[in-house]
This record gives sequence, structure tokens and C-alpha cells, in this order.
Amino acid sequence: MHREGGCACGAIRFETRTEPMGTGACHCRDCQKFTGGGPNYVALLPKGSVTLTRGEPSLARARADSGTMTSRAFCADCGTHLWGMPEHAPFMTVKVGAFDSSNDLGPQMHIYTASAPAWHPVPGEAPCFAGMPPMDARAD
Ligand SMILES: [Zn+2]
Repeated sequence: MHREGGCACGAIRFETRTEPMGTGACHCRDCQKFTGGGPNYVALLPKGSVTLTRGEPSLARARADSGTMTSRAFCADCGTHLWGMPEHAPFMTVKVGAFDSSNDLGPQMHIYTASAPAWHPVPGEAPCFAGMPPMDARAD
């Protein structure tokens, strides 16, 4: 399936023809900072499966809650966060809101639910993990 996406101002556009390995919502504190309080909804895609068709995102490198270093790609013009690139992981975490349509990208699991604020309900229809899921529960 061909998917396209981009930042809010349109300076950066991307596309992929690869189906996501999985989807999820991350409730860790870092993600709350970037979203404004709610979880971060992401689709996992193999690194190299997303092609830039316009612009070049800026990168912010930081240590994630999981302890691994990750690079976050964002638009330097409008500030929209586009994806994360965890080092040593075969996948990148593309924010589902960055896609032009995300109707079929609802979360298959919720992680770091222990960090979710008390006022944010975590829906019960998808598996929930207090922190990182065990390896066998992750998308394959
Ligand atoms: Zn932009």
C-alpha cells in the first residue's frame, strides 16, 4: 500500500510502500512532552522503507526512556515531529499523525502505561504494558 505523509507546513513530505510491522501508543514521559500530554501514536516501519520526497528533516538525538539512544526527526520550519530512529533497532517509529490518513493505523498495543497521567484513559481493547513489552509481544 502506498502511503504519503508530511509535516504541518508541507516543507517535508515522505512516502512508503511498506506495510507497518505494527502500531502502538507510547505513554512514556518523553512522548507526553512531545505530544502535549497524551500518548505518542506510532507505526513501526523497517528502517529504509520511508523515502523523503520533499525537504530534509532535522534530527534531535537523545536517550529514550528505554535507555537506548534515539534520533527524532522533525521539521525545522514548523516543528512537526515526524519519526523516531532508535539506534540498534531495525525499525523506525513514524508518528501516525504525520501520515495523510491514519484511519487504519490505530494502536495494536499500549506501552509505558504506568507513566500515563491519571486523567488519560487507556482503552482496554489492545494489550497494555506498564513499560516496554517483552520481546515476544512486539511486532514481528
Ligand atoms: Zn514543516
